[in-house]
Amino acid sequence: MAQNRKKIVVFGSIVHDLISYTSRFPRPGESIRGNSFHQGAGGKGANQAVAAALLGANVAMIGKVGDDIFADFNIASMQKAGVETSAVEKVAGSTTGTATITVSEAGGENSIVVTLGANLEMSPVTAEAAETVIASFRSAGILLCQAEIPDAATKKAFEIGKKRGVTTFLNPAPGDPHLDQSMLAFVDIICVNENEAKFITGIAAPNPAQAEKAARAMLERGPMVAIVTLGPQGCLLAERSDGSSEIVVSLLPAESVTAVDTTGAGDCFCGSFVALLAAGIPLKEAARRAVMIASLSVMRKGTQSSYSSRAELTSSGF
Ligand code: ADP
Repeated sequence: MAQNRKKIVVFGSIVHDLISYTSRFPRPGESIRGNSFHQGAGGKGANQAVAAALLGANVAMIGKVGDDIFADFNIASMQKAGVETSAVEKVAGSTTGTATITVSEAGGENSIVVTLGANLEMSPVTAEAAETVIASFRSAGILLCQAEIPDAATKKAFEIGKKRGVTTFLNPAPGDPHLDQSMLAFVDIICVNENEAKFITGIAAPNPAQAEKAARAMLERGPMVAIVTLGPQGCLLAERSDGSSEIVVSLLPAESVTAVDTTGAGDCFCGSFVALLAAGIPLKEAARRAVMIASLSVMRKGTQSSYSSRAELTSSGF
């Protein structure tokens, strides 16, 4: 990968995953034994920060955790990947965001309860307080946000980012039909999956033709670049040329791989794509490589633990 030129600030969520693998789901009021248990650091913001840092990008995380036993685990996981965490605040009296997940091994289905805890303490004031972190990256930076914290906080961060001349990137995941879309006026690049495309544009995007319609609709709302990820089909990239109404559309297909666990694939795509952009790789090539890197992640179990490092990619000839 080329020499890193830009810095990345992730303003987003941190969620601790608690996963019980069972033979079946418990009925209401019933207690059953799990077969095994796994815990892991997660949250869309943290996952994307880790994916970017593992590729060698210079990444700072702005987020909140509680004052419980999960806080240090999640901070340490980001630090281990190389993410700068001095702007991650421990909120006294709050809990770290948790996802309590039951996976029924019979059908591979899961049921998930997400309790956002300290993530809900993210506010416009948090963004204002972090202005120096965002501003320190100035025009050389990229601000990366998702939709797992209050919209008002994200919108304020984007407003500050635009005022300070950074490139702004929104991945409105997990899909929320009530997302405050006025924030799109401050977004340069938007990246959605099939479901999020539907929530943002009303257009379902299970295939490239529909994805192109959704991407064009998103470009009408502010961003210069719209990406729709399409799972095993890769992604569609639509780019509005500066100062012209022309839109260039590219389909970047994924290689056929044996998918073991697709959890966090979209986060891997977003973090990798932004890291590649930060390294000076042109848009279309960054999207092509991010598709490949995300496809590698679905071949491994886990979320952050399934992401490849720059060293791993280099040694496998990437
Ligand atoms: P999300 O995880 O947000 O639902 P997608 O399912 O669209 O996002 O996946 C994001 C990226 O992960 C895809 O663009 C692709 O690169 C990769 N990916 C996901 N599922 C598969 C799969 N079954 N085979 C190959 N690549 C995949």
